[in-house]
Amino acid sequence: MVKKEIDSETANEIKKELAQLRAQLDSQKKSKKKTSKPKKEKPKKKTSKPKEEKPKKKTSKPKKEKPKKKTKAEIAKAKKEAKAAKEAAEAEAKAAKEAAERTPEDDLEEQFSDEQIRNFQIEKMDMDKLTNKVCEIIADFEDEGMLQSDLWKKLKLNSRDGSRLALRLERRGLISREKILQKGRWTYKLVIEQAPIKLESLVDSPCLTCPVEAKCDFENSYPEPSPLHCQLIEDWVAVEFSKKKK
Ligand code: SF4
Repeated sequence: MVKKEIDSETANEIKKELAQLRAQLDSQKKSKKKTSKPKKEKPKKKTSKPKEEKPKKKTSKPKKEKPKKKTKAEIAKAKKEAKAAKEAAEAEAKAAKEAAERTPEDDLEEQFSDEQIRNFQIEKMDMDKLTNKVCEIIADFEDEGMLQSDLWKKLKLNSRDGSRLALRLERRGLISREKILQKGRWTYKLVIEQAPIKLESLVDSPCLTCPVEAKCDFENSYPEPSPLHCQLIEDWVAVEFSKKKK
């Protein structure tokens, strides 16, 4: 084989091209090295739980202002006012109670004077006889007493006359009246205070046959005869009293 000879100009151009190629290769290698693998990003540490916010401490209550001490004069004034208010309330309650318990007799007592009541007369009636009769009827009920309305029915008196008669007997100390609530209405119960003396009760009295009856007097002092220290009277009263009990 025959070896071709290359002129120097061509040889130089070939050398130049080769040098350019080498330079390109070197630059490519360098750029590869630079582009290294991206580092893996480490996962961020888990964020710790958010701390719970502590509740704020309660604000302390505002201190109460201590009341000012009252002066003696203020205390006395307050006491006086409280007493007056209490008295007014009591008076009001009393008035209300009296109004609720008011009866026709209460009106009569206000209408007539004490003297008019004591001397009360029912037309065409013997008031002494009537008084004795009323007392005898009431006495039969002893301490229990009887309703005035029952008495008026028995004597056929209207309630106005009957009420005034009861007031007359009360003023004379022969009976007492007790206010009671009967079937939702206030009325009076009559109770005997002084039982009338019955004639038959005196039949056995020792005085009727007493030999010293003429000299006997309440004013006498012992041994002069007097009912206040008479054994005969004492015995007679004891016997009569035991008879009544039976
Ligand atoms: S009270 Fe006696 S003493 Fe006088 S009159 Fe009568 S029984 Fe006689």
